[in-house]
Amino acid sequence: MFSKRLDNLHPYVPGEQPKDRDYIKLNANENPYPPSPRVKNAIDNYVCTHVEKLGLYPDPASEKLRESIAEMLNHSGGVLSNAFKNGDGDYSLISYVDDNIPFRVSKDMIFCGNGSDEVLSLVYYTFFNSGETVIVPRYTYSFYPVYAGYYGVPLDSVSLKEDWSLDTAQMTADAIKYNAPTIFANPNAPTGIGLSREGVRQMLEKCPKDKVFIVDEAYVDFGGQSCIPLLKEFPNLVIVRTFSKSMSLAGLRLGYVVANPDVINALFTVKNSFNHFPVDVLAQIAGETSCRDCAYYAKNAKKIVAERESFSTFLRERGFFVIPSSTNFVFAKKDGKRGEDLYKAIKEKGILVRHFATAGIEDFLRITIGTEEQMNALKAAMQNM
Ligand SMILES: *Cc1c(COP(=O)(O)O)cnc(C)c1O
Repeated sequence: MFSKRLDNLHPYVPGEQPKDRDYIKLNANENPYPPSPRVKNAIDNYVCTHVEKLGLYPDPASEKLRESIAEMLNHSGGVLSNAFKNGDGDYSLISYVDDNIPFRVSKDMIFCGNGSDEVLSLVYYTFFNSGETVIVPRYTYSFYPVYAGYYGVPLDSVSLKEDWSLDTAQMTADAIKYNAPTIFANPNAPTGIGLSREGVRQMLEKCPKDKVFIVDEAYVDFGGQSCIPLLKEFPNLVIVRTFSKSMSLAGLRLGYVVANPDVINALFTVKNSFNHFPVDVLAQIAGETSCRDCAYYAKNAKKIVAERESFSTFLRERGFFVIPSSTNFVFAKKDGKRGEDLYKAIKEKGILVRHFATAGIEDFLRITIGTEEQMNALKAAMQNM
C-alpha cells in the first residue's frame, strides 16, 4: 500500500518542545523577544474589524508582503544588526556606503512561503534533478539531507576545515568536477561561522554558471554579510531567508527567497502546482507590519549579539572551546566532557540546549542566545561545568 519513496525518508528532528516543565528554551534558535507590538495591534485589528475575511482565501502572491520585504532590505542593507544606530531609543538608519545594496530590490525579486523550510523544498524541486549530485558542507543545516532523501538527490558532503569553517576551495572544486549545484547556510549552522561576501563571490565566479547556487541566510541578521548585492552579477544565485530567527515569528511560519525575477517566476510555477496559498492572511499581515518596524528587530538583534559575546567570553574563561559565532547561537565544547552529559546536567537545572548525536560533533552543545536574564540563569547553571 505504501509508496517506495517512503523508504528514502529520514525526517528532520527539531529541538524538543517539552510540555512537562517550564524550561528556559535555548535549543531551537528562536528569538527570545516577542514580535513588535505593532504586530499584535495589526492582527488584533484585522481579526476584530474583519473577522469575516478569515473566511476568504489570502492573496496567493503575497503582493503587499513582498513589497514590504523588498523595502526592508533596501532600507536596512540586508543585515539588521548592522543597520541601525544604537542611540537612546534612536534606531535611525546608519548611512553606511560600503555595504549598501547596489540596486533596488523589487517585489519581483521576492518569493514567500510557509517558513523557509517549505521555501527550501520548493527550491529543491525547482533546481535539482533526482540522481544528480548536489554539493553541501559536511556539517550544515540538517534539513538539507532530509530534502535530499525526499527528492532523491545524492549529496557530495565536503568536510569542513580544521577551524570548522567551510572548505570553499574543495566545495568549488567538487562543484566543477560534478558540474553540480551548491547549497549551504551562511552563516553556517550549527557552527555559527560566517563566510564573507567576497568569499562567496570567489566561489560563484568559479562554480558552474548554469547550476543554482543557494545561500541560506537564516542567521545573517546577527552579524553575517548578506549576498544580496551579488544578485546583480550572478543570475544563478538564490538567497533563502526567514522571519523565524531575527524577526521573532517562528510560530507564524514565514520564509522567503531573494533572487532574480526569472528564479522567482519558476518558484511561483512550482508553488502553484503544489499549494496555491501557503502564506495565510495573518502571516502576511504580521510579516508586512514587521518589515515596517524592522528597527525594533534591529535593536533586539544588537542585544542578542552583545549577549552572545558576553556568553562566549564566559565559556572561554571556563575552558570551553567556542567557535566564533555570527549568529544567535554558540557552538561550544569542553575537553573531557561529553556533549550529552553537559546537555543533561543543564536540563536538570531547567534549561534546554541542543546536543547532536551526529558523529564528529557529538561533544558540542549548540546554545541559543536568550535575553540577559536567561543568559544569567544559564551562566549560573554552568558555573562549575
Ligand atoms: C531555522 C532555519 C531554517 C528554517 O526556518 P523556518 O523559516 O522556520 O522554516 C532554515 N535554514 C536554517 C539554516 C535555519 O537555521
